Amino acid sequence: MTAAREAARSGLRPLVLESLPVVGGLSRTIVHEGYRFDLGGHRFLTRMPEIQQLWQDTLGNDLLTVQRQSRIRYRDGYLRYPLELADTLLGVGPIQGALMLGSYVKAALGPASEEATLEQWMTRRFGRRLYEAFFRGYTEKVWGIPCSEIQAEWASQRIQNLSLKDALLNAAGFRPDAKTLSDTFYYPRLGPGMMWERFAEDLRSHGGDLLMDAYVTELHHDGRRVQSIVYRHQGQPREMSADAFISSMPLDELLRCLRPEPPERIVESARGLRYRGFIIVQLAVARPELFPYHWIYVQTPQIRAGRVQNFGNWSRALLPSEDVSSVGVEYFATVGDDLWSLDDEALFRLASSEMESLGLLQARWVTGGKVVRHPKAYPVYDGQYRQNVERIRDYLGRFENLQTIGRAGMHRYNNLDHSMLTGILAARNLAGEHHDLWRVNADHAQAVG
Ligand SMILES: Cc1cc2nc3c(=O)[nH]c(=O)nc-3n(C[C@H](O)[C@H](O)[C@H](O)COP(=O)(O)OP(=O)(O)OC[C@H]3O[C@@H](n4cnc5c(N)ncnc54)[C@H](O)[C@@H]3O)c2cc1C
Repeated sequence: MTAAREAARSGLRPLVLESLPVVGGLSRTIVHEGYRFDLGGHRFLTRMPEIQQLWQDTLGNDLLTVQRQSRIRYRDGYLRYPLELADTLLGVGPIQGALMLGSYVKAALGPASEEATLEQWMTRRFGRRLYEAFFRGYTEKVWGIPCSEIQAEWASQRIQNLSLKDALLNAAGFRPDAKTLSDTFYYPRLGPGMMWERFAEDLRSHGGDLLMDAYVTELHHDGRRVQSIVYRHQGQPREMSADAFISSMPLDELLRCLRPEPPERIVESARGLRYRGFIIVQLAVARPELFPYHWIYVQTPQIRAGRVQNFGNWSRALLPSEDVSSVGVEYFATVGDDLWSLDDEALFRLASSEMESLGLLQARWVTGGKVVRHPKAYPVYDGQYRQNVERIRDYLGRFENLQTIGRAGMHRYNNLDHSMLTGILAARNLAGEHHDLWRVNADHAQAVG
């Protein structure tokens, strides 16, 4: 959508083909029985002035400034996240606190060690005890594999610029300029879908267009240029040609669509890309003001949920009325595993009972809700991913008129801002500029090596 908006504004005639009936992809807003919610809460947070300006220009007064309130579930209570020294020490008790502090200082003062995996990266920065207590459980829920098998790039992209000094300053009550720890974020009054709807209006008013329920199945090429694509719309296959193509579909699927097929080793690399799926169980609750936080990370291994959202705290306009709440219970799963295979009823039961056992609500207050699944929400940074992506990128480089952008489109842990930036730059490339899209959000990954 960002690429198309930019292209239309520069005088081109883009057409967006979207397989879903709504715009926004991973950052769409789902509307169900008057409740609005996202797949996870989407914080609008960027260090790029151009993107911030774009959000502001698009949303104006509908871009709310929100004071972050997030917590980590620790044993039977909730600790502030980002961790704060006094709160954490009070919450974990004096003995645990002293041990955590000791292991933290030991890591801080210790010699530089290898930081290839997420486990190494985190223990080096936080000490083993803090890592075990506050990071490991949640992170392993997200990825479904041990932190020792995840590449450190993910942390370097997600926990940006959070150095030891920053974390210490933060723990002591001084806030560094680290994106993850940021106290304030922006959020569209009606959820992120609001921005995409405005983009759609802008796109159409500048001569572009958007076709919903259009699922791309084939890209036909001559080895140098993509000549046409085939998509299914209203049950019928259709073919169209264009001068240039920009793809944000998952990279492995793009490779599967190519006709003729890529060489076997490229197909193998595409097959090797792994994804983590995401399930959100939105619970409509007949009680106002359940808890004051925007979201809670759930470390507790006995609870399958990884994170809990209280959407009314993001924006009251996401609720149909003042006397209800909307809780988003987030599960991370892999297509085909036991969680992924649960039907909606089972997921509602699981989510309601887990929220009750955390003391956040009573299951009998739940009046309805909605389950949404997304199979490729997180590109997995396993030991092979980098080589696989590099091979695919090199192969796709031969196509003069095809660019891949975004998160799954580049198999990169891009947030909204970086995903949008790749779209803007891809559109500018069409207008004659020369941007290497693979450099966007690469700085942090490269710092880790
Ligand atoms: C749980 C969760 C929480 C997040 N929270 C934040 C946050 O707080 N802040 C933040 O900045 N970012 C957040 N993100 C990241 C953000 O959602 C993504 O960076 C962004 O939405 C990616 O946009 P995209 O256009 O690259 O990909 P997508 O949103 O995946 O868009 C791709 C689009 O292509 C469509 N498509 C796929 N295949 C085809 C096909 N064959 N034919 C036609 N259409 C197709 C899809 O339906 C989709 O609409 C979060 C992501 C997740 C999963």
